[in-house]
Amino acid sequence: MSIQVKDICKQFGDFVALDKVSLDFPTGELVALLGPSGCGKTTLLRIIAGLEQADSGQVLLDGDDASGTHVRERQVGFVFQHYALFRHMTVFDNVAFGMRMKPRPQRPSEKQIRAKVHDLLKLVQLDWLADRFPAQLSGGQRQRIALARALAVEPRVLLLDEPFGALDAKVRKELRRWLRNLHDELHITSIFVTHDQEEALEVADRVVLMNQGHVEQIGTPEEVYRQPATPFVYGFLGSVNLFRGRIDGETVRVGEDVLPHEANELEHGAEVVAFARPHELDVVPDAHSDAGVAARITRILAFGVTARVELDGLNGAGGQHFEVELTRERVAHLNLVEGQSVRLVPSRLKVFERNGTTGASA
Ligand code: ATP
Repeated sequence: MSIQVKDICKQFGDFVALDKVSLDFPTGELVALLGPSGCGKTTLLRIIAGLEQADSGQVLLDGDDASGTHVRERQVGFVFQHYALFRHMTVFDNVAFGMRMKPRPQRPSEKQIRAKVHDLLKLVQLDWLADRFPAQLSGGQRQRIALARALAVEPRVLLLDEPFGALDAKVRKELRRWLRNLHDELHITSIFVTHDQEEALEVADRVVLMNQGHVEQIGTPEEVYRQPATPFVYGFLGSVNLFRGRIDGETVRVGEDVLPHEANELEHGAEVVAFARPHELDVVPDAHSDAGVAARITRILAFGVTARVELDGLNGAGGQHFEVELTRERVAHLNLVEGQSVRLVPSRLKVFERNGTTGASA
């Protein structure tokens, strides 16, 4: 089933939780709603589910306006972060619950229910736990049972709100991969909410970046990571170093220093912020070069084959802190030491007009 949301607005009192959000979720995609706490992800999910009313705008399910359709008729399955399985029921009965609750004509026979529960427990690879009670399961197992329970009513859409949020990092990673594989098998249109960028980038076909009630960017993980449309997206999807300056020909001028910047759609003199990821900056000893921005090394931390070099900006970049990822070999080769004055030279810069969202990369 495809889902479209059109111009959805939602306020709680004076607080604008969603501000004209429009999105398309094509049939069979696994989409992540990603953004910081409070940006409106859960509210949007609840509106799609029919658990919450929008103030204005539409939800279309397979092209039909869903506003008159009750949550039970929307054929959606849910899994929430703290999904409470029924404590007094076995795993088997938990998964069977939705089917047993169906009105008479659609209710499968007990024999059919048995076969279905058995298949679902196999699908989530927990058929050996059918007779246990929820208290006898691990957190990860509970979430997989919750998913089996959601799938039992043959939903055409799966809505997952931070399904693995309460679990420890290792289990989360396993379940992410497992969810991806399960989706590849079932192809149910699925939307999952997360504030964890790694989770979104690793699992989803497409990622919707949300911020303060609106959509900042939609794209494949590769697109949003490699071509962030706004400074917010750039900053949210990884560590960044930031330079404030202005466009001067084919450079960004930071005080007296200059950074090369070939893309020229920004006007001469435009005030900009330029970003580089830690692996996109090189550190060059002062005596070797007058390119780049002046900085002083404050700390060198070496782990395995890589080293993290922390620096304070000097001159035009005074007051700024930087973080650079180099190989240990390069640190040794350049004889870099704490306290040393160096220059920061980017291999790649992403430049945004200040107070605007125009972006350009070099
Ligand atoms: P999180 O990752 O923390 O769950 P979120 O992006 O899912 O955040 P929402 O739960 O959608 O955010 O909430 C968006 C904003 O709306 C928040 O500031 C929240 O406090 C507010 N909000 C949500 N539900 C209500 C409500 N029923 N009454 C008042 N304010 C609400």
